[in-house]
Amino acid sequence: MLHHGVNVLAQAANTNHTGKNLLNRDEQLIITFYGVRGSIPSPGPATARYGGNTSCVYIELASGNSLILDAGTGIRALGKRLAQTHQTINILLSHGHWDHVQGYPFFEPIYQPERRIRVFTSTQGEHGQLCSLFNQIDGANFPVSAEQLPSQSECITEDPAIILGDENIIVRRARINHPGGGYAYRIEEDGTSCVYITDNELDPPHKVTTRYDQWVEFCRGVDVLIHDAQYLESDMPTKHGWGHSLVTQVRQLAIDAEAASLVMFHHDPDRSDAEIDFIQQENDAFFRGRRAPSLSVCAAEGMRIQLTPQSGKATRIDIS
Ligand SMILES: [Zn+2]
Ligand SMILES: [Zn+2]
Repeated sequence: MLHHGVNVLAQAANTNHTGKNLLNRDEQLIITFYGVRGSIPSPGPATARYGGNTSCVYIELASGNSLILDAGTGIRALGKRLAQTHQTINILLSHGHWDHVQGYPFFEPIYQPERRIRVFTSTQGEHGQLCSLFNQIDGANFPVSAEQLPSQSECITEDPAIILGDENIIVRRARINHPGGGYAYRIEEDGTSCVYITDNELDPPHKVTTRYDQWVEFCRGVDVLIHDAQYLESDMPTKHGWGHSLVTQVRQLAIDAEAASLVMFHHDPDRSDAEIDFIQQENDAFFRGRRAPSLSVCAAEGMRIQLTPQSGKATRIDIS
């Protein structure tokens, strides 16, 4: 059952508390990467280590709430895990391009009758993105139509900041520089923070939706900065204006914003494991001796980042 519900913020805030998320027993904020590839799935021996599934990141908050960032093909594996729980599912969608929605028809919880799913999406951009997750489930492009789904789904276009009904959780949005538009997110809980910026060109050739200095402020002091780093200088100038950033630009953003850690995300589908290893080596050399970021990794499927609040303002960041 699909509700094109738009006026649901108050209702959702009142009915949010569905119980402790049993998956997060350690009272930490945990980020797990289920899909890290850009543009199109790229399975095969050359991409096996970093993974070929497209964008999907799962954030378990210490409060027990959880958020899914995007529904690329990586969401299929996450769905198998969440199908064992009864929690309300919250999905923050960056935008409606295929590589961010294409896994949703294979997300097991949508076939569970008692499941409640809230999709935060966008009407911003030239091509209406409202409920782009469901537009593809139309009986023609997929054998099932959205109206046949037994789960209780809502598409919400309002600001997600208050939806979780917990004053310790803050969700902020910023508009990405990307064809068709969309959103980046900053999520904070009790002093720990994560920024998710995918499909964003830090130095676009034409229309600038969010300026570089505004990105620096948006990311200021964040514990974990996840940013699209699809391209290298060798991809230019052909791909300038395609809505993605250079590895070198993302490094600079991490430094300017004083991010505690950096995760390079949305790898090009043609980038092999060996080539990503080389980017990692160059990043390690570049950041050596700098105060921030103290950690830098190229995202890989299955990677987990745990944020543990310490005394004062410090956060311990463990990557496995
Ligand atoms: Zn993308
Ligand atoms: Zn895109």
